[in-house]
Amino acid sequence: MMSSALENIVVVGNGIAGLTAADSLRAGGFDGELTIVGAESRPAYSRPALSKALLRSGPDLALHELPPPDHGATELLGRAATGLDPERRVLSLDDGSELGYDGLVIASGSRARRLGSAPDEFVLRTLDDAVALRARIASRPDLVVVGGGPLGMEVASGALEAGCRVTLVTNEPPMERHLGTHLGATITAAAVARGLDLIVTRDARIVERDGRSVVALPDGSLIEGDLLLTAVGDIPNTEWLAGSGLPSCGPLAVDSRGRLRPDIVAAGDVAAVPTASGPVRSPIWHSAIEQARVAAAALLLGDEAPELRAHPYFWTEQFDLDLRVAGRTPLAGEPEFVDGDDPAGPALLRWRHADGTATAVSVNYRIPIPRLRRLCEAAAAA
Ligand SMILES: Cc1cc2nc3c(=O)[nH]c(=O)nc-3n(C[C@H](O)[C@H](O)[C@H](O)COP(=O)(O)OP(=O)(O)OC[C@H]3O[C@@H](n4cnc5c(N)ncnc54)[C@H](O)[C@@H]3O)c2cc1C
Repeated sequence: MMSSALENIVVVGNGIAGLTAADSLRAGGFDGELTIVGAESRPAYSRPALSKALLRSGPDLALHELPPPDHGATELLGRAATGLDPERRVLSLDDGSELGYDGLVIASGSRARRLGSAPDEFVLRTLDDAVALRARIASRPDLVVVGGGPLGMEVASGALEAGCRVTLVTNEPPMERHLGTHLGATITAAAVARGLDLIVTRDARIVERDGRSVVALPDGSLIEGDLLLTAVGDIPNTEWLAGSGLPSCGPLAVDSRGRLRPDIVAAGDVAAVPTASGPVRSPIWHSAIEQARVAAAALLLGDEAPELRAHPYFWTEQFDLDLRVAGRTPLAGEPEFVDGDDPAGPALLRWRHADGTATAVSVNYRIPIPRLRRLCEAAAAA
């Protein structure tokens, strides 16, 4: 049964977790006052598009847009929450005002981690970042990317396609920590074949030379380009919770229903969900959606709400490879080829894990997400 005490719910964060929470609250029957506070001054958009279609596309700047919301919430955009008093159930906002709530969804996401502090270090997190990067890439600069995860590799791929010379510096083989050695090697081979200059080295740093940020390698050599972009992870946005009694450094460890307290839930990149090995963040698009649905239900239904059952799904597009991954990663060892035999695809791959679960991966192979998921379930049932 829906909690009768809830008349006024506030969502902090206007990303996909905040948007999904608002939609899910309405779908769950909440018809009270709903307010979204969002630091960015624009409606929610697709962050994954920023490093893929948007970076590669021509003049079309609409590829990141999401359908207009129908949750009917009051949206306070361009406004940040700056403090929380959970006992009074009051949020402070950056214009000095206060906002009361009966239920609170924290979906303040994360921001790019920087290696230095100079303004010429580009990062890619927001639409503004993407627009600025696109504009710079259009003049085909020599680009230096630090970070061999999905973001760094997607930017490198888009910039190469746009005609830039690209050097990528990474402290471990590209994509290996995210996807394992087999897929990491497949992607690396594709990247090098398409002209990526790859430097794998530990302890690269950003230093200033002649007023510019450059990459210093442990052997003393410098990697200089016209443009430097770092893609070295993200930091949960929790500092605004300082003094609230909730963690204000690092992620918010929620329970299996996304709760921090009965009246406060958290979801998306800001949250860490319980796993067998402790609270873990899963900063990917589909996890933000799954978590926000569960958290909204928990706010409305308490212990009667279903617990989170994570079904990780991740995709990346880089160096002419389109990878879709259903199930947990990274993937140890070699896969079973369910269809196709070329690692660069089209191929449908599967890894069976010791606990009876499986991960299915499509490489340049058009397959709907439910069918990819069914491949995992079939392996588990076999
Ligand atoms: C360039 C890029 C490409 C990506 N590609 C993929 C991909 O291919 N596949 C995939 O699965 N995932 C991808 N991701 C990750 C995915 O986009 C994120 O996991 C997802 O967007 C997280 O959503 P969120 O709502 O939790 O957080 P966010 O999207 O970070 O949204 C949080 C919002 O809250 C706002 N906010 C922060 N603090 C406050 C405050 N104090 N008050 C009010 N508002 C606040 C922020 O400004 C932001 O708008 C990508 C991420 C990036 C940056």
